[in-house]
Amino acid sequence: MSLPGGERDVFVETSRSPESGFVSCRCPIHADQTPSASLLFREGRPVAMFCFGACAARRGARFARFRVLRADPAEGGWNIRVAPESAGPERAKTVHRKSKKPAPPNSDQQQEVPSLVIQEAVERMKAEAVARLEAFRAGKCRETPEAWRMWLRIKRIDLERLERERPGLEFPPIFLDLAIAFPLTPIPPEPGLPARYHLRFHAGLKAINYPPDSSQGKIWAYAPRGFRPGSPVVVVEAPQHALRIALLTDRVLPLAAMGIGNVPRLVQAASEAGGAVVRVFADDPVAVPGAVGVDLDEVASDERLLRLLGLSRGVVS
Ligand SMILES: [Zn+2]
Repeated sequence: MSLPGGERDVFVETSRSPESGFVSCRCPIHADQTPSASLLFREGRPVAMFCFGACAARRGARFARFRVLRADPAEGGWNIRVAPESAGPERAKTVHRKSKKPAPPNSDQQQEVPSLVIQEAVERMKAEAVARLEAFRAGKCRETPEAWRMWLRIKRIDLERLERERPGLEFPPIFLDLAIAFPLTPIPPEPGLPARYHLRFHAGLKAINYPPDSSQGKIWAYAPRGFRPGSPVVVVEAPQHALRIALLTDRVLPLAAMGIGNVPRLVQAASEAGGAVVRVFADDPVAVPGAVGVDLDEVASDERLLRLLGLSRGVVS
């Protein structure tokens, strides 16, 4: 049912209705196959909904927030009236929002995803990056350590110390002229799957650095130590954070989501794969219970980072 002001009456299926906190759900606004939304509860009732899937993509934002104007309990979930909320702290640019008409009811996901990315350009860049990466791995070309050092220093990662103290880590993003390619690990691991690559475009294109469909429907993460079920897992937003944590301590297994929108999915996937998710960090709020909104790039001291992880200096080598 369509109402004025973009309001919608929808049914949202929920497994539980806690007193407070987030419950993941399939987004009732777009045709959501996997739970890519979260419902926020206060005093046992839904008060807000966040969609990290197509609704976010349609806004060109990291998440789309909806106010819950009315909520009536129903069999297996809630009947809610939602109204879209304008962007809050999200930093991604809203490229097409102003010219975008409100989505018609029941429009499907394909129609909703805006064309922020020139797919042909993405494919060409990906092909070039993969070719260079494969040449690099085959020893046919070398990356420049200077580029590495500068970037890693900016990110407070000491390359020499990394090589000396933590040999054998899956290496961090590889620099190319056009893009940065991250070594990716599927969660849960899928033996026999070919290596995949994820691209982060250089300056000016950061808002579209995770092109739609580049993950091919899978959840990808950068895991500097690989993934072992049973390990205490810390989920972070960006690969450099995972690398920095891997350098500082081996008491936890850092996993980096490729972008904030992927954090809830990665947390869920890591839990399902048998990891004990003990901390979640993201630059901006994410709909994950217990997630800490801290930009780890802003955490200058290793001691403070370890404290945030729940570890003290004494427990690391
Ligand atoms: Zn949605």
